Amino acid sequence: MSSDRYKGYRGRSLDCLRKFDAGVWSDVEIRSSRGDFRGVILPRSETADDAHIVLKIHNGYNIGIDVDTVESITEFGRIEAHYKIPEKEFPFDPGKPNVKLFGTGGTIASRLDYRTGAVIPAFSPGELYGSVPELADICNLRTEKLYGVFSENMGPEQWKGTAEAIGREIENGVDGIVIGHGTDTMHHTAAILSFMVQDPPVPIVMVGSQRSSDRPSSDAALNLMNATYAAARSDIAEVMVCMFGPTSDQYGLLHRGTRVRKMHSSYRSTFRTIGDIPLAMVMKDEIRVLKDDHRKRRKDRTVTVNTAFDPRVSIVYYYPNMQPDIIDSLIDNGYRGIVIAGTGLGHVNKPLYPALKRAFDQGVHVYMTVQTLWGYVQMFVYDTGRDMMDLGVIPASNMLPEVAYMKLCWALGQTMDREEVRRIMCTPVAGEITEREPHNGYMILQGGIPEVEEFISRYNR
Ligand code: ASP
Repeated sequence: MSSDRYKGYRGRSLDCLRKFDAGVWSDVEIRSSRGDFRGVILPRSETADDAHIVLKIHNGYNIGIDVDTVESITEFGRIEAHYKIPEKEFPFDPGKPNVKLFGTGGTIASRLDYRTGAVIPAFSPGELYGSVPELADICNLRTEKLYGVFSENMGPEQWKGTAEAIGREIENGVDGIVIGHGTDTMHHTAAILSFMVQDPPVPIVMVGSQRSSDRPSSDAALNLMNATYAAARSDIAEVMVCMFGPTSDQYGLLHRGTRVRKMHSSYRSTFRTIGDIPLAMVMKDEIRVLKDDHRKRRKDRTVTVNTAFDPRVSIVYYYPNMQPDIIDSLIDNGYRGIVIAGTGLGHVNKPLYPALKRAFDQGVHVYMTVQTLWGYVQMFVYDTGRDMMDLGVIPASNMLPEVAYMKLCWALGQTMDREEVRRIMCTPVAGEITEREPHNGYMILQGGIPEVEEFISRYNR
């Protein structure tokens, strides 16, 4: 029996289909403790979970049925649909820049077939060209799938592998790199790649989508076009994130990889530069640079890939009344580094002090960042800050907590020497520490206030 019969199913969902002798495209009735459902079993994306069977029911909706609730499946026949995107050969034009698109997974790596409602990976150049033909106007595109995971499953192995793949492509002469990635942890990967891939000569642009391409409001194609355009044409040779900019689809924004964060769980305009303004706006035929302090594109092929990484680091998000056993357990479990996201200017409560002292004495490297995300750690303002510095806690300037985490993993992968780690941590590598945060970067508009409502209404027509 071909594996296509179970396409995308694995583990528990695969066992369930086998048990009742049903498969993809089976027209079935599923009896479950939650009710009975009639429909066609759809293939699943390879990044999907193993706990559900997806059924296209007759009103056209897709539903996921929890395998643990399934009592029986009766097959009445098979209704097979074609779900392959037409493969078209991606045209090659010697006059156009060469861009490499790496895929790691996430929503952008999937698309939903309109007729069947099945989520399928669309990743070969031919498939991408079939679904986003505008890409051929921008560049010559080659694609390579590195991983197929939702981004919460990215980890050191994938970060190192991606950094090495980028290094190889740069040496092979590519003009720009795009990395398709789940949005949830895109800023973590952007941060570690900013450290692992030093001084690249070409743009490295991460991209994802908040909504899969079956939805009319999908940002997948637009983000991909903007990211590809930025990789092919922009003069900014840094690790960046290119995602939906404002609330309409007028432009994308290019964010520096060490200053970006996902800030909304569902809006398409979820990525925001923190502590600065974005690097550039990306429009159909134009890149409008907003900040000129970026590294410029070069013709040489030199790049330093340093994939050092020690995973024995944790982020501790401080909350009032945190108990010292949290810190103690990290020390006792062999963690070598702790990044604290402290309150205000970088504070934790007094009961934690003895544990922090113990961490220092046992050679654990402790850095302080701020939960406010905007602004700097300031440990000279209050006595408490000074006390903590006496205990060996080092202020991490205006590094974002996740960025400080990635940098500490990277630093400890290179050395355990306290002074050397401190030197690496406190020396900016890729814009993660800045001298000042511009006043026009921080803007939080609170609705309900008359002048804000008036301002917003001008843009919301
Ligand atoms: N959960 C998905 C991921 O981060 C969401 C997305 O791709 O946007 O992989």
